[in-house]
Amino acid sequence: MTFDVVVIGAGFGGLTAANHAALGGVKPLVLEAGSDDLYMCNSRVATGALHVAFRSPEDSEDDLYQAIMDQTSATARTDVARMVAENAQATIDWMRDEGCDFMQHPRRSYGLPMMAPGRAMRAGLDWEKSGPNLFLQALGEKLGARGGELRRGARVSSLLIEGGAVIGVVLEGGERIAAKAVVIADGGFQADRELIGKHITADPAKIRQRNTQTGRGDGLRMAMEIGAATLGLDKFYGHVLSRDALDNEKLWPYPQIDVICAKGMVVTPDGKRFADEGLGGIYMTNAIAGLADPLSATAVFDSSVWEDARESDIVPPNPALVENGGTVLQADMLDELAAKAGLDAAGLAATVEEFNGLIRAGSAPALSPARTTKTYPAHMFEKPPYYAIPLCAGITVTSGGVAVDGRARVLDTTGVPIPGLYAAGSVVGGLEGGPGAGYVGGLIKAFGIGRIAGREIVSKIAG
Ligand SMILES: Cc1cc2nc3c(=O)[nH]c(=O)nc-3n(C[C@H](O)[C@H](O)[C@H](O)COP(=O)(O)OP(=O)(O)OC[C@H]3O[C@@H](n4cnc5c(N)ncnc54)[C@H](O)[C@@H]3O)c2cc1C
Repeated sequence: MTFDVVVIGAGFGGLTAANHAALGGVKPLVLEAGSDDLYMCNSRVATGALHVAFRSPEDSEDDLYQAIMDQTSATARTDVARMVAENAQATIDWMRDEGCDFMQHPRRSYGLPMMAPGRAMRAGLDWEKSGPNLFLQALGEKLGARGGELRRGARVSSLLIEGGAVIGVVLEGGERIAAKAVVIADGGFQADRELIGKHITADPAKIRQRNTQTGRGDGLRMAMEIGAATLGLDKFYGHVLSRDALDNEKLWPYPQIDVICAKGMVVTPDGKRFADEGLGGIYMTNAIAGLADPLSATAVFDSSVWEDARESDIVPPNPALVENGGTVLQADMLDELAAKAGLDAAGLAATVEEFNGLIRAGSAPALSPARTTKTYPAHMFEKPPYYAIPLCAGITVTSGGVAVDGRARVLDTTGVPIPGLYAAGSVVGGLEGGPGAGYVGGLIKAFGIGRIAGREIVSKIAG
């Protein structure tokens, strides 16, 4: 069988690329591993906040570019960052033209558009009536109306290559499909234990899959097999969750424990801090996943932080965490709390004493590890009762992946585009990550880079 373009994966990255190809007169076939009508993928269950490094995509190109660089400590590829920033406005305009509605994010006061209707801001996974699910279905229908095809139950296992150029794909089971161009949009490698065990955590069984477990690293593997370069495989986007989320479905993807961690402190069983809580929940969840035992982190804080948690975060953990069966330990004395939480009482007392002393003196950077306070002021332990929440890392989607240039073309290890091969969405590396685990946005990565990949293929094939 021959198509102009084969797209691997029918999330927002793949369907955006395919629809742009079809709009440009190029015939796309989208191959999707999931076989259900409403096949699972991260796009379907996304909350729907469309942002570029937490800025509105309608901000100026230069501001967005700078925000990406700030988020990633300037580790993002400049051409990819520029591509995303330059195309952000056009991307949201296209989404509107395609019928996607937007609303103001209910919990982010700084003007982030959210795909409407918004999901209910409550614990658990809740996607059926949400804007992302409806828009994903709409994009699939539009693709058919534009002459494209979406085939479900079709998992791609490798790329066909001839004379250094990609000329098609091979499906599980051996079927070969020829194409003039291939777009990898399989959604990342977060659900592949071997790959995350190699790059992200010592014990993949001890981190919570905060996603649909459809990103199994197929795209990364098949691209590497033909010599593609990779970037930033060591970081991921995710949030800190209650340890109970490992086997309680009501405790993921919300409530997140990010803000509690960022205002209080996070310790290992010896009662010692191990990371800069002030850098926020995405950084902290990476730090927890990186511990020798990823189930050894506990948030400790005083009642002022717990009271604040009624207001803070997308789904306030107070009371959602308790109502949905999450462990929140409480005691009037620190040593009593340590005993309940399995922490070394002397170690915790020493850490709290140092923490209170240096925060009171305005010397948070002198703590070890240093504590930044720019975004989240540190709360001293002053007001009992004291609280502890056993934590785990929740992985939503990997940040790194296949290297592309500013035209969504996959690069080989010498930096040269591999003819016929493109990538979009969470399989793309080089835009996110860096020392602070910078997050630019899963949706803009899918819609924005998907749009560029589709348009690039049109200009290549249709001239
Ligand atoms: C709970 C949750 C909330 C989120 N909220 C937000 C948010 O508010 N804002 C934001 O910016 N981001 C958010 N994200 C992230 C965002 O949803 C994703 O990063 C984005 O949707 C990824 O799109 P994608 O097309 O790359 O991958 P996906 O949507 O995962 O689609 C990839 C598809 O490829 C298929 N596939 C995989 N392997 C193969 C193969 N070998 N052959 C064929 N098909 C294959 C999969 O089955 C899947 O359908 C959220 C994610 C989750 C899980």
